[in-house]
Amino acid sequence: MCEAQGHQLVGGKFQVAQVDSCSPALPLCGMGSKKEEARRKRIHLHMEGTLTARDKVGVQDFVLLDAHTSESAFVDNLRQRFSKNLIYTYIGTLLVSVNPYQELGIYTVSQMELYQGVNFFELPPHVYAIADNAYRTMCSELNNHFILISGESGAGKTEASKKILQYFAVTCPMTGSLQIARDRLLLSTPVLEAFGNAKTLQNDNSSRFGKYMDIQFDFQGVPVGGHIIGYLIEKSRVVYQNEGERNFHVFYQLLAGGEAERLAYLGLQRDPQLYKYLSQGHCAKDTSINDKNDWKAVSSAFSVIDFNDADLESLFGIIGSVLHLGNICFEEDEQGCAIIPDTHEIKWIAKLLGVHPSVLLEALTHRKIEAKTEEVICPLTVALSVYARDAMAKAMYGRTFTWLVNKINSSLVNKDFTQKTGIGLLDIYGFEVFDKNGFEQFCINYCNEKLQQLLTERTLQAEQAEYEAEGIQWEPIQYFNNKIICDLVEERHKGIISILDEECIRPGPATDFSFLEKLEEKVGNHAHFQTRKLAGPKGRRRIGWMEFRLLHYAGEVTYCTKGFLEKNNDLLYRHLKEVLCSSKNSILRECFLVTELENRRRPPTVATQFKNSLSSLLEILISKEPSYIRCIKPNARKEPSKFDDFLIRHQIKYLGLMEHLRVRRAGFAYRRKYEHFLQRYKSLCPDTWPHWHGPPGEGVERLIRYIGYKPEEYKLGKTKIFIRFPRTLFATEDAFEFS
Ligand code: ADP
Ligand code: MG
Repeated sequence: MCEAQGHQLVGGKFQVAQVDSCSPALPLCGMGSKKEEARRKRIHLHMEGTLTARDKVGVQDFVLLDAHTSESAFVDNLRQRFSKNLIYTYIGTLLVSVNPYQELGIYTVSQMELYQGVNFFELPPHVYAIADNAYRTMCSELNNHFILISGESGAGKTEASKKILQYFAVTCPMTGSLQIARDRLLLSTPVLEAFGNAKTLQNDNSSRFGKYMDIQFDFQGVPVGGHIIGYLIEKSRVVYQNEGERNFHVFYQLLAGGEAERLAYLGLQRDPQLYKYLSQGHCAKDTSINDKNDWKAVSSAFSVIDFNDADLESLFGIIGSVLHLGNICFEEDEQGCAIIPDTHEIKWIAKLLGVHPSVLLEALTHRKIEAKTEEVICPLTVALSVYARDAMAKAMYGRTFTWLVNKINSSLVNKDFTQKTGIGLLDIYGFEVFDKNGFEQFCINYCNEKLQQLLTERTLQAEQAEYEAEGIQWEPIQYFNNKIICDLVEERHKGIISILDEECIRPGPATDFSFLEKLEEKVGNHAHFQTRKLAGPKGRRRIGWMEFRLLHYAGEVTYCTKGFLEKNNDLLYRHLKEVLCSSKNSILRECFLVTELENRRRPPTVATQFKNSLSSLLEILISKEPSYIRCIKPNARKEPSKFDDFLIRHQIKYLGLMEHLRVRRAGFAYRRKYEHFLQRYKSLCPDTWPHWHGPPGEGVERLIRYIGYKPEEYKLGKTKIFIRFPRTLFATEDAFEFS
C-alpha cells in the first residue's frame, strides 16, 4: 500500500516524509476522541480485513498452537510465518521477532497509525503494538514501563528499539516547543551509534555498548525529555580488531566525510588504511557501509543536540589523537629500552591535546615509580611502551564516550516538567559464545544471566505466585532458576568477580594463571563451574590450561583467562594519567582532571563497576512494568529469507521461549480485577446495567453467565477474573464496542 514512507534526515532535522498521498493525515496532535478513533479503526479493519487475512499463516500467538507444544512445532510456526515475511509472533504479550534482513515496508506512518490505540491482540503482532500498549497503559495508569529487547548480536535489537522510538516520535501528541525534545531523542541515536557501534562478523552495525534509554512523558503523554545510560563500551576495539571487523564507525566516518580543513587541522589523511588502529581487520574500506553519508547525518545531528564548535574541536582532537597514537612505532636502544625514532605523530598529538611533546614522549617510554621519598623514572621496554600507548588510546576513547553520553543527557534534560512518567528501552548485548571467549564475553554473559533472572522473577515466578494468591488451581511448571549462576559470579567474597578483584589487588606476582588456580580452589566444586583439572563428562570440547567453563542458563561457555587481570584492572600508568590531566583539551580535562582529583583512591575494578551498574539497572527495572521483545537471528550470513533451523533452535532454547510458552499456555491470557471488568462490560447484561449493587465478583459471575462464557474459558479468583484465551475477550470487547 504505502512503501515509500518513513523518516528522513532533512537538513539536520528528523522529519516524517509523507510520500504516500493516499494515506490520511497524521494525528500528530493527539487522537481526539480516543474511543471514536478506535471504533473507526475497528470498523475499517473489519470491513477491509486485509491485514488479518494476510496474517493467517500459522498462528499469531504461540499460545494457540496445539496442545503438547514441542520445540519442532514452535520452529515450524516461526518458519512458516518467516517464509511469508511475517517476522513477528506473540507468546501472550511477549513479542518474538525474527530479523528479516530486508526492508519489508511494515514501518510506514500508516502502519503506525493503524496500531495506535487499537486493542493489543486485535491486529497482527508488531513491535508497534508493544510500544502502543506500553504507552497507553502508562497514560491511563500513570506508571512507568520498560521494554527489554534481547537476543544475540545481529538479531535486530537495535533496529527494534529505533522503531519504537520512531513510533513514539510520530504518534505521541506534540506541542511546538517540545519538538526539539523529540528531535534530540531521535538524533541521539546516530551520534551514539557512530561512537559506540562497529562492523563485526555478526553485524555490520553492531552495538559495542549496552544502552538504556528512558523516554520521559508529561501528564498528557507528550515526550518531554530523556535519559541514557551506557554500559561497558568495548574499549579494546579501539586498538585491536579481529579479521573482518572494524574499529568504531566514527573514525572511518571522519576520514571519509570530514571537511578537508578539518582533516588538515587534525593532520589526518583520507585513507583509513594508513592507520594501524583502523586496518587490522583488513576491511577498513567496506562497500556495504557508506561512511561519507553517515558522517553527514552525524554532523547534522550534533548541531541539534547542542554541541558547539568548541565541543566538536575537542572531540575530534581526541579522535585524531587516537589515530596518531596508533601509528607511533617504538624501537629498542642498546640497553633494551624503548625509544620513538620518528616523532611526527607525537607532535600532532601534542598539538591536538595541548600537552608538551617531550612530556608525552617521556610518558610513553618511561614509568614513574614512587620510592620512599622520591619518584624514580624507569625506562620501559618496547612491549611495555606498546601497552602504555594502547592503554592511553583506550582510556581516552572510553572516557570520551562517557562524556558524550553525559553531554547528550544534558541536552535531553527538561527541567520545566517535574511530574513525569517514562518508558525505558533496554537494548543490551545478547549472550555471546565464540570460539575464544574472554573477559568481555564473561561480563556480557553475566549481564544476560541477570536479565534472565529478572525475566524469570517477573514472569514465571510472579505468574505462579499470582495464581496461588488468587486461589486458582494450577499445575506448577518446572523452570530453571539461574540464581545459582548469578551467585557463582557475583557473590561477595566468594564469587568469581570477588576472586578476580582479590588477584588484581594482591601484592606479589598475580597472573591470569594464578587467578585460575584461585578459582579452582574456591569455586572448583560448584555445579556450574569446570576447569581442565575438574573437567566434566568426556566428549565435550576439551578445556585448555588457561581456561574455565561456566554452565550458563543458555549453555556452556569456555572462557580463556588470558587478559582477565589486565582488563579488569584497566590501569593507565600514572605518568600518562598526569599528562592527560594536564591536557588543554577541554573534554580530557573534564574526564581526567576532575575524576582523578576526586578519586585519589584506587577506582573499583571494571568487573565490579559493571556489577554495580547492573545492580542499579535492575533496581530501576524492578520498579517498572515490563514488556519483552525477544529477537532471533535467522542465519549467520546476514541473508534475507534464509531460515537456519539449528541456529534458531539454539536461540529458542537460550531465550527461554519454550518455558515461557509452557507457563503462558497453562495459564491465562488475561486477568482483570472484578471491579474493572464489571465497570467496562456491565452494559452487556441487564442484571448489571446500569448499576450492580452486590459484590463485584457476583456481578461478574452474572455477567459472564449472561454472555455465555464456557467453563473452560475462565476461572474466578479471589479478586480477579482469569480468562484463558484472547479470543474470548475479543468477542466480549467487540460486543461492547458495537453495543
Ligand atoms: P542487534 O542490535 O541485535 O545486534 P541490529 O538491530 O543492529 O542487531 O540488526 C542488524 C541488522 O539487521 C540491521 O543493520 C539491519 O540491516 C537488519 N535488521 C534488523 N532488524 C530489521 C528489521 N526489522 N527490518 C529490516 N532489517 C532489519
Ligand atoms: Mg545492537
